[in-house]
Amino acid sequence: MGVLDIQARIRAACEQAGRDPETVTLIAVSKVQPDDRVLAVLDAGQRVFGENYVQEAQGKWPGWRVSYPGVSLHMIGPLQSNKARVAVGLFDAIHTLDRMSLARKLAGLAADGAVLPDLFVQVNTGDEPQKAGVLVDELPGFLSACAELGLSPRGLMCIPPEGADPVPHFRLLRSLAADAGLPLLSMGMSADFQAAIAEGATHVRVGSAIFGARDYG
Ligand SMILES: *Cc1c(COP(=O)(O)O)cnc(C)c1O
Repeated sequence: MGVLDIQARIRAACEQAGRDPETVTLIAVSKVQPDDRVLAVLDAGQRVFGENYVQEAQGKWPGWRVSYPGVSLHMIGPLQSNKARVAVGLFDAIHTLDRMSLARKLAGLAADGAVLPDLFVQVNTGDEPQKAGVLVDELPGFLSACAELGLSPRGLMCIPPEGADPVPHFRLLRSLAADAGLPLLSMGMSADFQAAIAEGATHVRVGSAIFGARDYG
């Protein structure tokens, strides 16, 4: 479909929702995409990208960042604690703060002098046993524990259950963020970013609609 087309659709969704397009950030999710596709999107002017794997991002982005100033890189995949240090150095935002052990690890890195990326807490809005994320009931306690560690997450993130209507999950995430006084909402992917914008998303994570299908080969 192409990144310019997605940017136009985002503007249209904002207009329809009565929102300023400046309040929605498009994260182009480039995980496992061939280099030529990512470079074409960089050449088209897109500067905010999402990656799921620390090692893959580490291999690609430091070089591209030199050639394309102004890149902002967002970690949207599960983050192992033993990769947290590298992730903190590489990413401008981490959307997947999903457990206390990772919060403690990040707080420890900050205590050692690291400047932490913007943090989003991933919420398991569907209470799915196999899915990462803080359970809805546990979110207030998790956020207080983060505050005690000196962490200040800026928003919430969710991945609605596969095959379900995402809108109730977007609404739930929005109300949880409002209750917690958090301004940012990372929600909406290729199939549902317009609905997410209507529900208040500030960050939409769009991969295949921009780059084409991923080939995990
Ligand atoms: C891969 C991924 C996306 C992008 O998915 P598409 O359906 O290709 O847009 C968005 N968010 C997360 C967390 C992902 O892992």
